[in-house]
Amino acid sequence: MIKELHQKLVNGETTSVKLTEEYFDRIKKDDESIGAYLTLTEDLALRQADLIDKKIKQGEKIDLIAGIPGAIKDNICVAGTRTTAASKILDNYIAPYNATVAERLLKEGAVFLGKTNMDEFACGSSTEKSAYRPTKNPLDPERVPGGSSGGSAAAIAADLAVWSLGSDTGGSIRQPAAYTGTVGLKPTYGRVSRYGLLAMASSLDQIGPIVKTVEDAAIVLSRIAGEDSMDATSARSGGKFYEDYLNGNLAGAKIGVPREYVGEELDSEVKMVFEQSLKKFEKAGAEIREVNIPLTPYALAVYYILMTSELSSNLARFDGIKYGLSIDDEQRSADNSGTLLEIYLDSRRYGFGEEIKRRIILGTYALSAGYYDAYYKKAQKVRRMLREDFEKVFNEKDGVDFIFSPTTPEPAFKFGEKSKDPLAMYLADIYTVSANLVGVPAISFPIGMVKREGKDLPLGGQLMGKWFDEENLLNAAYAFEQLE
Ligand code: GLN
Repeated sequence: MIKELHQKLVNGETTSVKLTEEYFDRIKKDDESIGAYLTLTEDLALRQADLIDKKIKQGEKIDLIAGIPGAIKDNICVAGTRTTAASKILDNYIAPYNATVAERLLKEGAVFLGKTNMDEFACGSSTEKSAYRPTKNPLDPERVPGGSSGGSAAAIAADLAVWSLGSDTGGSIRQPAAYTGTVGLKPTYGRVSRYGLLAMASSLDQIGPIVKTVEDAAIVLSRIAGEDSMDATSARSGGKFYEDYLNGNLAGAKIGVPREYVGEELDSEVKMVFEQSLKKFEKAGAEIREVNIPLTPYALAVYYILMTSELSSNLARFDGIKYGLSIDDEQRSADNSGTLLEIYLDSRRYGFGEEIKRRIILGTYALSAGYYDAYYKKAQKVRRMLREDFEKVFNEKDGVDFIFSPTTPEPAFKFGEKSKDPLAMYLADIYTVSANLVGVPAISFPIGMVKREGKDLPLGGQLMGKWFDEENLLNAAYAFEQLE
């Protein structure tokens, strides 16, 4: 998609301003019912588009992403633009600076249509936990688009953006991509700078693209990846054009399917689609093997202890004083202003939704002096052991190149189906959290359809790769995509 649009721009078949206006027309027509966007940045977009059109006119060479309209998850800072992370506590927060990913995209001339809806502070799997409104799945409005990057995924599925950025702490790029029939990539931890991403759990968070094709994922990744002096965990990488590595050749590649991921409990229709996709990989020349990741049954528990611990610490800064919302003097003028503690408590009580409060309480508990060893420290140890499981599967003599599974155990669920039961919601992440815990890159792409109540819904396949092996990971997904 991006390459074709780029061709049209440089051939003069269309202009970036025209293209951008087409997207805004569609957004204004369709997004009221879908709810993919929280904020539109029309002025910024048209300014960017106009700049690129001028460059093209002057015969300047432009980058592939230049002039192409996209959307950015609302937990990523864009200077001068409202950035809420879909939380009331940041309702009136205007980002004073650009996240590194935004800065890099702007430098290449990308066009920003707006900021997309999400679960509050990226906590959720359905976008029902946005403080503003839920996002609908464009393929079936009775169903959720997944989460937490549900707005970004819905924007792609409904043609309300060419590319989008999401963030993934336990599956928030891949699971919504799976539910909406799109492609979502969580890069290796450290591949993309987190500077300017409102932190959820800092040792797990990564920013990545949600797009229509694997090639587009490669193009966007190339523009946002690389070392950044503003993020000490960003790795020395960058400067690679991942799209140049896509040749569709999978001959001799070894793909492992973890026994623990496709057990008896897996829905039979999901299993059937998954097995067909294994055949497809074989057709492309790959060899399929069963592998073992014995610690898989503990991954979700480890994730929910470590993530809530880090989240409780990261969210401590939202106290009604430093940023955004403050329940203070105005509300209290009658009986004079509250104490500092009351400002903290009231701002957080009003500003945070129930899921955020639940996670802050869980994380604070896991980190408390009496329970730290039993929960946090233990979880860190199991995380290390899970990493060793992955190292064995990938790096041991005759190890595999990729690990493949469904992205989720089932297709998109209905609104309300899981929102009353946090544990049921957490299970939507069962296949995705491990990649964050061990840091490997993982991509979700459509592998087929399954029927639910007479409707065909897309199912995603998840391919995990070796640390910093995005070029081969993307190529494997690309090879799959090319086969019918
Ligand atoms: N659904 C997961 C959660 O609620 C993942 C969130 C994410 O990746 N940001 O924690």
